[in-house]
Amino acid sequence: MYLKKIEMQGFKSFANKIEMNFDQGITGIVGPNGSGKSNISDGIRWVLGEQSIKSLRGSKTEDIIFSGTATRKAQGMAEVSLTLDNSLKILPIEYDEVTITRRVYRSGESEYYINKSLCRLKDIRELLMDTGIGKDGYSIIGQGKIDEILSNKSEDRRLVFEEAAGIVKYKTRKEDSEKK
Ligand code: ATP
Ligand code: MG
Repeated sequence: MYLKKIEMQGFKSFANKIEMNFDQGITGIVGPNGSGKSNISDGIRWVLGEQSIKSLRGSKTEDIIFSGTATRKAQGMAEVSLTLDNSLKILPIEYDEVTITRRVYRSGESEYYINKSLCRLKDIRELLMDTGIGKDGYSIIGQGKIDEILSNKSEDRRLVFEEAAGIVKYKTRKEDSEKK
């Protein structure tokens, strides 16, 4: 499974609709300071369900919507889509390609889609659980994540291994049923 494509429109500095296609293997994103490299990784974490605007380097939801420039007006919504190759059927869904989309409007209203069908954030979480991909998965290694892996606290380290071992879904189901 690998990331095939990212599409963004109205997300942070990406006013126009952009599409980035990736092949398997190593890809580097390079560019001058302030050109939007980190905004791309923010977009990836956001579509995977990141709820903390602060961790996306903003202070309120509107900060992730293109705010306009001297020559371009602001956008009313932000949208990011990730397309994953699922030909190995690692994601528990019958499709060879899975596109996850998140959209937010200035009003604060938010929507999620799996292959263009409206869904809940919970559906995306469940789809990605135990694959290492979710917003807290190890497919995105931010600075804090390295601290977590090296942490002296065994519970912090354990979470990383539980995701890799594929047992998070059982743990979550157990916790959910205990709550009921
Ligand atoms: P560096 O090399 O310094 O890390 P970078 O390529 O990672 O730079 P980013 O941090 O991704 O750059 O992009 C920062 C730019 O995005 C800034 O110019 C900022 O003004 C712009 N930006 C962030 N949020 C918005 C927004 N909501 N609307 C318009 N522009 C935005
Ligand atoms: Mg950066």
